Amino acid sequence: MSRFQVRKVAVLGAGVMGAQIAAHLVNVKVPVVLFDLPAKEGPKNGIVTKAVEGLKKLKPAPLGVPENAALIQQANYEEHLELLKDCDLIIEAIAERMDWKLDLYTKIAPFVAPHAIVASNTSGLSITKLSEVLPESIKPRFCGIHFFNPPRYMYLVELINTPTTNPEVIDQLESFVTTAVGKGVVRANDTPNFVANRVGIAGMMATMIEAEKFGLSVDVVDDLTGKKLGRASSGTFRTADVVGLDTMAHVVKTMQDNLKDDPFYSTYATPKVLAGLIEKGALGQKAGAGFYKKVGKDIQRLDFATGEYVAGGGKADEIVARMLKKQPADRIKLLKESSNPQAQFLWSILRDSFQYVAVHLDTVADTAREIDFAMRWGFGSQQGPFELWQAAGWKQVAEWVQADIDAGKTLSSAPLPKWVFEGPVAENGGVHSKDGSWSAKEGKFKPRAKLPVYERQAFPESLVGEGAVEPLKAGTEEFKNDEVRVWSLDGEVLIASINCKLHLISPTVTEGLLKAVEIAEAKYKGLVIWSPDDVFSAGANLEALMPVFMAKGAKGIAPEEKKLQDMMLRVRYANVPVVAAMRGLALGGGCELAVHCARRVAHMESYVGLVEVGVGLIPGGGGLTYIARRAAEMASAGNANADIFAFLKDGFTNAAMAKVATSALEAQKLGYLLDSDVIVPNKDELLFVATAQAKAMADSGYRAPLKAKFPVAGRSGIATVKSSLANMRDGGFISAHDFHLASLIADVVCGGEVEAGSLVTEEYLMSLERKHFCSLLEHPKTQERIMGMLQTGKPVRN
Ligand code: NAD
Repeated sequence: MSRFQVRKVAVLGAGVMGAQIAAHLVNVKVPVVLFDLPAKEGPKNGIVTKAVEGLKKLKPAPLGVPENAALIQQANYEEHLELLKDCDLIIEAIAERMDWKLDLYTKIAPFVAPHAIVASNTSGLSITKLSEVLPESIKPRFCGIHFFNPPRYMYLVELINTPTTNPEVIDQLESFVTTAVGKGVVRANDTPNFVANRVGIAGMMATMIEAEKFGLSVDVVDDLTGKKLGRASSGTFRTADVVGLDTMAHVVKTMQDNLKDDPFYSTYATPKVLAGLIEKGALGQKAGAGFYKKVGKDIQRLDFATGEYVAGGGKADEIVARMLKKQPADRIKLLKESSNPQAQFLWSILRDSFQYVAVHLDTVADTAREIDFAMRWGFGSQQGPFELWQAAGWKQVAEWVQADIDAGKTLSSAPLPKWVFEGPVAENGGVHSKDGSWSAKEGKFKPRAKLPVYERQAFPESLVGEGAVEPLKAGTEEFKNDEVRVWSLDGEVLIASINCKLHLISPTVTEGLLKAVEIAEAKYKGLVIWSPDDVFSAGANLEALMPVFMAKGAKGIAPEEKKLQDMMLRVRYANVPVVAAMRGLALGGGCELAVHCARRVAHMESYVGLVEVGVGLIPGGGGLTYIARRAAEMASAGNANADIFAFLKDGFTNAAMAKVATSALEAQKLGYLLDSDVIVPNKDELLFVATAQAKAMADSGYRAPLKAKFPVAGRSGIATVKSSLANMRDGGFISAHDFHLASLIADVVCGGEVEAGSLVTEEYLMSLERKHFCSLLEHPKTQERIMGMLQTGKPVRN
């Protein structure tokens, strides 16, 4: 396959989706030009400009850092069509109208580069029909690219080909979308609403019908169909409110218009209550009311019977909640056999979903794998419907479903297809097997795509029944304790995986990491700190130190803290490169561990910061030492006489205010990631890239940094910080304890009461960290903060 280079992407349409897709492309460093119609008044780019400005305020943030909005090139169809000639990929995301889209394609066709891929983000229109107006030369390069809202955060992108799409083109696009854009690709057939929305929205419609049947209110349904059921926490009705009831109705209309022969057609009728809400303009969250309404601080729910909003907060029955905690086989059996209406409701919606996917598998997707991943990645389910069915016992569940169909209890009388009961699926006990996933159309198990891009994923998400090796059981194990596994996949790079809750750094974790460095130095090219789940480390494990504190007080903590700091220095001065593969939370001690590594490879969605002041402490695992050292390094770069304090201010503020970067890009801005660090868009490529970095560093002759003294800002720095802190305290902006904490932080990062420019060692600064950290442990206000956090999980302001 020839290399598909994407030097620039054009996004057509700066609406909800187009603008956010453009933002995400900027996040992942893909140059992008965003088009919309010329404004009727004022500057011609007016519509795009407004959309780009809007990106900075939108929540959840579409941009990694808001100022990157400026990197989106703005354009309109009247003045700038020529710009399209430089684009390798054109993503159309204009309003969902076939005639408007066709008009636009005709208009842009002469400007499309001869190699460029053109793709539509339509959620419901036929990709094949859209392709028909295109010149013959573009047709092979046209397909659907269906992002989910919000595109930065939703992992799913559906790619849809037409009969004339060149297979190589869509493979190239899949590779780009996976690695560069960081998404999980599902290939969908060109059927109405493709895979995720088809199955997901049909499921929501069925849920609404069954809820009415069992007389359940929206809050109870949401509690039952959210996290407890292994689905998105917003459940069913709240999800509809977030999506927008008009958008949802639009997707439903696509089914009403195009699926007249579908055996579930009757379930696609817009429920009266939904139609009523839309008519009233109660379109969900954006309108302030939908199935729920925010009244002051309360969230009220719609009462179906009266159409009024009433107090919400209804929950699942305790007995049903307990059933949902069981393993799949027991769970489904209990739900089915229970006479509790909530349990019956849950069995009904699960049964409906199993029937739905089985009946439609041969038309909507190539295999069952696409359906399960689409539901995981597009609807936030932990397991797709086929996986759940398989995990619960394929044959038994199939018989129960069929029995309900025969008894007329289901929403459609369509029987389960033959392949459910006979042949390879029945023999395998489900649709996913070691040989691949079931294709109902072809009547065989089909393996995953063999595209080279997937070689970058050692542990892609796996499905029940595939028999995939779990990462923490894979490779060669070198060492293991209760909280760390040290192992290697390739015999060249060692991996340390922290596997305790939130990967909190306890003495056991410290021991494991020290052991890992030792083994790596003896036998490997480098060490990568990586874990398969979505957290790097949420901090030091304070609870683990409780017994020592109880027995010996703060004095007993100092030696424990020193061990942690020594580990950080061991990592920094290891003879092999240690690479932090970061994803999710890297807070407090987790952040300190990362900054002491030789390099950081961070997933775009990394949340990084020194948050210790939240629990009344200061960073005590080398975090402040790092800030002081970095300031000295930055001050000495280029201009040996620069004022260290100027470089220290931001680092100090970040720690004193417990600032957390909400993306890897922001972490770079805060100074926790360096320009030389690597940001990885796709979570499943993190290990691959981190390993490659470790190898490349080793192969380029890696040596640990030389230990050196560096200058600090000293007592004048402390005085400057303190005077502005005093103003903040006296003005009532910070509490007395905040002032105390910030003063201690200033003391460490400035190197204590020494002359400005004095040279210090990391060990000296770490001893200051320890001194202040331990003094704080005995401070009643700090104790109040720690207890509050341990008890409620929320910071105490005192
Ligand atoms: P939107 O209404 O927010 O934006 C549509 C944009 O199209 C506007 O900026 C508008 O100026 C422009 N536009 C309108 N008429 C036009 C015309 N005749 N020619 C050129 N441009 C025109 O819509 P959206 O929600 O961003 O949806 C865009 C596309 O993405 C649709 O195809 C939609 O189905 C699809 N989609 C939407 C979502 C979602 O949740 N909103 C999710 C996935 C896919």
